[in-house]
Amino acid sequence: MTARILVVDDQPANVRLLEARLQIEYFDVCTAYSGIDAIEAARAEQPDLILLDVMMPGMDGYQTCRMLKSDPDTRHIPVVMVTALDDREDRVRGLEAGADDFLTKPVDEVTLFARVRSLLRLKMVLDELRYRQGETIGIPMATDPGEDFDAEASALVIAGDERSAERYASAMPSHVNTWFETDPGAGVAAINDETDLLIVDLATEDFDGLRICARIRSDAATRHLPIIAVVNPDDLERSVRALDLGANDIIHRPVDTGELNARVQTQLRRKFYADRLRNRLDESLEMAVTDSLTGLHNRRYIAARLRQAMESASNGGAPVSVMIADIDHFKRINDTYGHDAGDAVLRAFATRLTEGLRALDLAARFGGEEFVVVMPGAGLAEGRIAAERLRAAIAHAPFSLQSGEAIEVTISIGLAQAYPGEDIEALLRRADEALYEAKSAGRNRVEAARDLAA
Ligand code: GH3
Ligand code: MG
Ligand code: MG
Repeated sequence: MTARILVVDDQPANVRLLEARLQIEYFDVCTAYSGIDAIEAARAEQPDLILLDVMMPGMDGYQTCRMLKSDPDTRHIPVVMVTALDDREDRVRGLEAGADDFLTKPVDEVTLFARVRSLLRLKMVLDELRYRQGETIGIPMATDPGEDFDAEASALVIAGDERSAERYASAMPSHVNTWFETDPGAGVAAINDETDLLIVDLATEDFDGLRICARIRSDAATRHLPIIAVVNPDDLERSVRALDLGANDIIHRPVDTGELNARVQTQLRRKFYADRLRNRLDESLEMAVTDSLTGLHNRRYIAARLRQAMESASNGGAPVSVMIADIDHFKRINDTYGHDAGDAVLRAFATRLTEGLRALDLAARFGGEEFVVVMPGAGLAEGRIAAERLRAAIAHAPFSLQSGEAIEVTISIGLAQAYPGEDIEALLRRADEALYEAKSAGRNRVEAARDLAA
């Protein structure tokens, strides 16, 4: 994972030390020697992560963190506070200033990289959501992750014994409804859509909490559920494994109420931020990318997916082919049976079209009675087989409408395989030309664009 990391410390020797270690792992490092410089560098360089010294003359790390987290240009960047102090007051203060994590000086290499990887993974997910949201909708960014959040939430504690479970549960913030389980199987089964946070005991001998973390992360339904792992302070190995397996945060035993509260707040704030982004994205994707008559994708959606598939094909990935299918003499259907019957045929066609596709294929209505199917992984030969199958599926059975009418429908298909470096318009143009040939040659046919490089 390559990423840009901003290292901030007033002591040049500390900066050089961290810089050297990060560079060995191929991170791209930028540096700043004061809070003010850090804020400027964060804005200008847009790093993926900031390692921020706490004790600095002038503006200290807490203040710097607070400013970074209140600036819309930098608030999405994870901040790890690096401190010589290892006192809970300081941790809580840092978490309250919006820090995402802590490292104690001298910085232990293994912990450093585990934390960095874990936060970078998280940032990548959020960046992807933010990016896709910006690209597809163009509405303002969701509210910031730094906003105060104490809405109701629910959490589950999975601990080895009832006493620990109760202790962790009672240390949770009061607005978080907390349940606990001491049986790991029952615990995992108790997770549902309402669960906002999971606390897993890794310090118990009764079960392997790491296995729970791994299971939560590998299941699509729980992939985004934040996990805080409870670990014995001397169990560095387990902390690192937990972070690598996808735990979002670590808290040491014995669990301190103030610290747990602050960590829970951070996780919940992030989760609700990501949920909001995701929901908004789902909604707007739905609206922006679906054709209302047939429920198929629309031109805009398919263009984005086709672009990805073509880029991958150009970079030596699997080939991609497209077909354009156009209903023959559709105007006659409208003229003979009426516009509503025409609509019903379009819907029925869309259904038959999707039924015949492979899981990878994407079908869209491009407008009118013209449909496009993107076939990732298909070269011209596979594309031709798919197109021929579709043509036959339409021609061989008439469409029965609710009115009782059965309408014979045929389609013509133009097919083309993307060649490396080709742009979408050129590819679709070639498919369209092939379609035109199919129409001229008598309809109810498949024609392929002959020359790949034409
Ligand atoms: P060809 O075989 O050459 O494709 O002939 P065609 O009649 O299918 O093609 P043409 O492009 O001349 O006509 C398409 C017709 O599709 C014209 C338009 O009124 C009709 N149409 C476009 N969108 C819709 C729609 O959403 N619903 C209905 N019922 N008709 C539509
Ligand atoms: Mg037509
Ligand atoms: Mg047409």
